[in-house]
Amino acid sequence: MSDTIEAPAPALDVPAIASGMLIDGAIVAGEAFIEVVNPATGLPFALAPDATRAQLDRAVAAARRAFPAWAATPIEERRATVQRIAARLREHADAIGALLTAEQGKPLRDAIGETRRAADHMEALVALDISGQLLRDDGKERVWIRHRPLGVVGGITPWNVPVILAMVKVAQALYTGNTLVLKPSPFTPLSTLAVGQAIADVVPAGVVNFVSGGNDLGAWITGHPDIAKISFTGSVATGRRVMESAAGTFKRVTLELGGNDPAIVLPDVDIDAAAEGIVRSTFANCGQVCMAIKRVYLHSAIRDAMIAAMAEKVRAIRIGPGDDPASTMGPIQNRMQFEKVAALIDAVRNTPGAEIVTGGTVHRGGGYFIEPAIVTGLSDDSPLVRDEQFGPVMPVMVYDDIEDAIARANATEFGLGGSVWTRDVAAGQAIAERIEAGSVWVNRHLGNAKDVPFGGAKYSGYGREQGVAGMLSYTEMQAVAVPVA
Ligand code: NAD
Repeated sequence: MSDTIEAPAPALDVPAIASGMLIDGAIVAGEAFIEVVNPATGLPFALAPDATRAQLDRAVAAARRAFPAWAATPIEERRATVQRIAARLREHADAIGALLTAEQGKPLRDAIGETRRAADHMEALVALDISGQLLRDDGKERVWIRHRPLGVVGGITPWNVPVILAMVKVAQALYTGNTLVLKPSPFTPLSTLAVGQAIADVVPAGVVNFVSGGNDLGAWITGHPDIAKISFTGSVATGRRVMESAAGTFKRVTLELGGNDPAIVLPDVDIDAAAEGIVRSTFANCGQVCMAIKRVYLHSAIRDAMIAAMAEKVRAIRIGPGDDPASTMGPIQNRMQFEKVAALIDAVRNTPGAEIVTGGTVHRGGGYFIEPAIVTGLSDDSPLVRDEQFGPVMPVMVYDDIEDAIARANATEFGLGGSVWTRDVAAGQAIAERIEAGSVWVNRHLGNAKDVPFGGAKYSGYGREQGVAGMLSYTEMQAVAVPVA
């Protein structure tokens, strides 16, 4: 059987859309442009502004000007502004979702769903109580903690879930009294820019700014002297550069980076329910989720039954263009990522003892489609197990001794998430708590509510986003002591 399907290259689309950036309350046209590619065709279909250094400086200056008044705005009013932004997202979810599908690839219902979920997340975040704390009032002295905003926050987002990741940063920055300059990924700028157009009249000028461009723009943001904090979501390699460049101006940094999350399946598991949950949490968004399941460790007693049950569910996934209602999985988002996943599958084919149980066909010549795959027979040091694949390929390993499974789950630089699947919740919890990761689950993986702090251990990140802990990372703690007369 051939592992590659060649398709004729379709005719070239003419780039059509030029979206403007939100700078100082106005929609500003680009002076230079980047091409945006539709991953379902592999062809450019739109242009987005490639912000100049001067345009970034204007955005940062506007955010800095807007900061004192915004920081002094009562928190109820800041909450109401975030709620108005959320309402605009819902109002324009169909149009923003269509752009998101075109540039990111995910099925349209998922793209519209992402836009609506972004609105839900924003509302949940501004419901959190982030007030200060009275430490002492003993008749002599009152001592309390308050949380002051930092100034201008620089937000940098990746291409996998661009609308949610951007809007979570908007909600956190604004609710805590900061202003924001945010840069989406050059692969998926249009949906974020469309949000900017949708919200321009419900946010005071300069409080939110969206600028698009390439990686240079990201480095300009992280090095900018007038930016106080960077909230970065992306890869480990870029996260390291962000941390280095923030050192010069002592920027506060939150890094949400990659993961290689293990799922450990115990022998007593409910096979069908676990297969359903594990497949969903591995292949969501075509496997391009930071805290997706990326390695599965099965107890040998249930190996065959679990693989059969998971394979059946994977075969039911329908890959295709996101604008085809029959598609339940879109293409991989960009060519580089597509080639990386294709190379990992090639390496599996050349590994003695490895078997592709289902899927793995790489479609070439058009969009970046790969049939979702389950792979067995790999050792823990093979690239598909060791590295973050960030694509629709699930490696399945076997264990006999739970201590061995835990050690192998932890034998990684990553530490974003991990899960244990079992009918014995107490046993599952005890094992889950031994996984060296920022989030662990029993009989579930992904999908925390926004009051739950999220972030990574080890190389998967630095700090937290969401929850009260994440919110407060957008603030500086101030201890105040006054004598009581
Ligand atoms: P990436 O690191 O290549 O890019 C992320 C962003 O950083 C983009 O906007 C990019 O333009 C910008 N950038 C690039 N070079 C920069 C520099 N020198 N300085 C500042 N910014 C720069 O990541 P990606 O390929 O877009 O995203 C995929 C990765 O993101 C995966 O590793 C995934 O696990 C991770 N991710 C993590 C989370 C999380 O919350 N932990 C969520 C989603 C994705």
